[in-house]
Amino acid sequence: MALTGIEIFKMLPKTNCKECGFPTCLAFAMALASGKAELSACPYVSEEVREKLAEASAPPIRPVKIGMKEGEKVIGGELVMFRHEKTFFNPPLIAGLLTTAMSDAEVDAQIDAFNKMQFERVGLMLRPEMFAVKDMGDAAKFAALAKKVADKSDAAIMLMSDNADALKAAAEAVKDRKPLLYAATAANADALGALAKEMGLPLVAKAEGYDALAELTTKLTGLGLKDLVLDGGARTLKQAFQDQVVFRRAALVPKFRPFGFPTVTFPCEMTDDPMKEILYAATFISKYGGIVVLSSLEPHRVFPLLLQRLNIYTDPQKPMIVTPGIYPINNPDENSPICITTNFALTYFIVSGEIEGSKVPTWLLIMDTEGLSVMTAWAAGKFVGDAVGMFVKKCGIADKAKNRTLIIPGYAAAISGDLEEELPDWKILIGPREASHIPAFLKAQ
Ligand code: SF4
Repeated sequence: MALTGIEIFKMLPKTNCKECGFPTCLAFAMALASGKAELSACPYVSEEVREKLAEASAPPIRPVKIGMKEGEKVIGGELVMFRHEKTFFNPPLIAGLLTTAMSDAEVDAQIDAFNKMQFERVGLMLRPEMFAVKDMGDAAKFAALAKKVADKSDAAIMLMSDNADALKAAAEAVKDRKPLLYAATAANADALGALAKEMGLPLVAKAEGYDALAELTTKLTGLGLKDLVLDGGARTLKQAFQDQVVFRRAALVPKFRPFGFPTVTFPCEMTDDPMKEILYAATFISKYGGIVVLSSLEPHRVFPLLLQRLNIYTDPQKPMIVTPGIYPINNPDENSPICITTNFALTYFIVSGEIEGSKVPTWLLIMDTEGLSVMTAWAAGKFVGDAVGMFVKKCGIADKAKNRTLIIPGYAAAISGDLEEELPDWKILIGPREASHIPAFLKAQ
């Protein structure tokens, strides 16, 4: 049973020494109770109290680290059912499936696609992170395939085999990558539990039925394993989706420890229809997959999932913003038109997309409005004549372009008079209200 902040506070030293990074023991206790701090941050808790508080201080869903070549990715560690309650923290890893039944050419093509696949959005690089490497009954080929993935990519690796010896050999071959082992079942829990413990690797626990899975994770944690990932075994959308919700709710609400781990999901095993597979994957990105395994990684299939993941795992309490500055689109020169808008990411996406689509070389000025859209920023006094004028003078566009016509958003037409006073050398042109009219507007200039 979870302890309240006050109950935890009563057991702390109450010296307010601040060494934990919090100003008082009470603040630390509150953070501990809500899973935002780790007990180990306080060096002065006695062993006896430490044991008592272990239950209360552990996060409801354990963050599990899985290695990529450069650094680690974390899955799990979530604190809420719905992102609007707070935020989701650790995006699910998107994985491609490689099997020992695939030809060398198929494997090489998938690794090549993985290495090339990255998309820039709002200043972030979006890409898949993982390969699930599956043994189809050839242990030597399995280890070689795992090694090839490690050598030729920076991907995180999940090793999948029914054969404990094959799993061990493959894990040895890529142990620096800290692979995730798949999967301990009721039948092999002792062997795989021992292997994961010996090598210090995270392990998937797989069982169908909630009682069976809870029993399995309890057994594995009893063996001393902490980094577990859940597979409820279902391969239908309905049951697998229900499992995700049950695991999350059980872990958060009654803090049911046997389900307090991230999950792995397999859209690739639920359908042969490529479109359905992506829709299933999208379901698990929303609720509540820790890893989502796809049958193949192709840009047109992965891209929408990456965008969806970006949106779901963006903090809803902080507006998405882009960096203010000058964005050249379609290779503008000194005579190209100059547009300006706000740094609300959605505004930037839409406006820059329309300008790009118009193929008209254009300078796009993005002004810092703390992530507010044009209308809201204008109403809040952040996108008004003097502020916009000041930004245009300071941003450096005058050094890049001779053109002195500034196109402002149609929704900000009211600032044109003030802006003309602020920028006497400039001609202020009122652009369209709707972004979809931008291409025709630019072509007419
Ligand atoms: Fe209190 Fe421990 Fe934090 Fe010091 S380190 S303020 S004793 S909780």
